[in-house]
Amino acid sequence: MAKKMRAVQVPHPKGSFEIVEREIPEPQAGWVRIKIQACGICHSDSLVKDGTWPGIQYPRVPGHEVIGLIDAVGPRVEGWTAGQRVGVGWHGGHCGHCDPCRRGDFFACQVALLTTGISFDGGYAEYMIAPDKALALVPEDLSSVDSAPLMCAGVTTFNALRNSGARPGDVVAVLGIGGLGHLGVQFAAKMGFKTVAIARGKDKEPLAKKLGAIRYIDSQEKNPAAELNKLGGAKVIIATVTSADAMTAVLGGLAANGVFIVIGAAGPISVDPILLISGRRSMKGWYSGTSIDSQDTLKFSALVGVQSMNEIFPLEKATEAYERMMSGKARFRVILSMES
Ligand SMILES: [Zn+2]
Ligand SMILES: [Zn+2]
Repeated sequence: MAKKMRAVQVPHPKGSFEIVEREIPEPQAGWVRIKIQACGICHSDSLVKDGTWPGIQYPRVPGHEVIGLIDAVGPRVEGWTAGQRVGVGWHGGHCGHCDPCRRGDFFACQVALLTTGISFDGGYAEYMIAPDKALALVPEDLSSVDSAPLMCAGVTTFNALRNSGARPGDVVAVLGIGGLGHLGVQFAAKMGFKTVAIARGKDKEPLAKKLGAIRYIDSQEKNPAAELNKLGGAKVIIATVTSADAMTAVLGGLAANGVFIVIGAAGPISVDPILLISGRRSMKGWYSGTSIDSQDTLKFSALVGVQSMNEIFPLEKATEAYERMMSGKARFRVILSMES
């Protein structure tokens, strides 16, 4: 008789989570099986829960901040062996031969773009299978729970910052101190940027400073754009909030040639074209990254001591854990631990 595992699935769009027994899956060619130790809960898991991502086949197990041990290796997998501790993030795979893939833009693959927990079952389970292209090696000195949120929230902020064009000493502002922002402030500070944190209210100031911000701007009390301009303007602003108005309010704080990078999903953002034209400023979005970007994020975090603040729940409390994340009250990431 095949061995069973527990998994938490969404039975249909807008359905409640169900904890079910399933057969432990066997990895096909090019895939490995992972015995999961921890999986972060991300706001994007609501795309599966609510059915707002097109083409999802249900039931589906969400979760794209997965850490665990390789437990079985399918045929034609090279470079990975049983026992290695690995992470799986949002980017689950790509074809490798379409035009965007040939240009190295794997995130834009037009043929076989796979997303973990969306195109195939993710990490709200005791086991999962994943393509070898999706694997990141986890450094020994990071715990599995600490590594999990780095697979999405971490790589998104780390990768946006390291590709932002900002140089050590430049003013870099992080808008929002939440799941993404509290990591963004740490990464920016550790990369040597003059890091400014912007959030609503006075209460987040001590935390922002502790995470490495040299300045904190309370956007309820002060005009954040004017405050940034007093520092000479920001070379880069990373917007992690989900409010378009909050984004619009800081745009005027961009220095000449400054870049506004959107990583928080908000409604349509309004921007004054003269601001962009006159200072050659720009706005762009940033996609999290591929498996090697996640691996770099983990390595950098271990090297400099970047750590996510986490609330930990056992797998069977997935509903409670998800609601905690959706409430916006978690400090700051919510993690399912399969070992608790
Ligand atoms: Zn995510
Ligand atoms: Zn492709």
